[in-house]
Amino acid sequence: MSALSVESTKKAGEMDIASNSQNMQSESQKAGENSDKSKSKISSDALGNCYCGKDRNLNIVELLCASCNRWYHESCIGYQLGKLVPFMTNYLFICKNCSPTGLETFKKNQAPFPQMCLTAIANLRQESCKDGSNKTLFSKDREIIPYIDQYWEAMTTMPRRVTQSWYATVQRALIKDIQILFTYEEDPNQGPMFGLFNMELTSIKPNYEAMIKQGQLKVTDMGVATG
Ligand SMILES: [Zn+2]
Ligand SMILES: [Zn+2]
Repeated sequence: MSALSVESTKKAGEMDIASNSQNMQSESQKAGENSDKSKSKISSDALGNCYCGKDRNLNIVELLCASCNRWYHESCIGYQLGKLVPFMTNYLFICKNCSPTGLETFKKNQAPFPQMCLTAIANLRQESCKDGSNKTLFSKDREIIPYIDQYWEAMTTMPRRVTQSWYATVQRALIKDIQILFTYEEDPNQGPMFGLFNMELTSIKPNYEAMIKQGQLKVTDMGVATG
């Protein structure tokens, strides 16, 4: 569904980085003597994430700014974000460099079940990379549902369901988007197993283009603002 727009965002972002680094290269060439110093600065500027300038860290919560398209570490953000988990896509964040008031904007939205499943599997995948087990498929019943159950309040503004009927909703969401968001395999011992169709965890981000189209975000002279 959103594969096309994600792809076009990525290309736009890559082009930005490319043109930025070109500009910086010509500046550093002018700088001449300092070119060595400038070069080491180019790489961090080209990545250009967060106020701290450090790279992404997939083990912690990071938010993407809707305006400058840079990632910000939770620990570098002043706004009281509340409980979140990594790889969420149901939020709007504007960094203080982009905000007309100089204050960060943050809003967490309800996450539809497919998004919660995606966030859950991405976190399970990252944990598995970290602990060295390097698994790509996760049990719906033993891993995905328990993850969502544990982190429900962090993942969505939707009130926690009082009955377990959402277990079936998770299953439907996973099956509906096989070969779009998820991969599927039946394991004789663990039952249905699901993974990510796009294994690139760094590409998981809010669909700000869709929010702009839906009028939740407005593009103004000042940048992007909440509608
Ligand atoms: Zn930072
Ligand atoms: Zn920004």
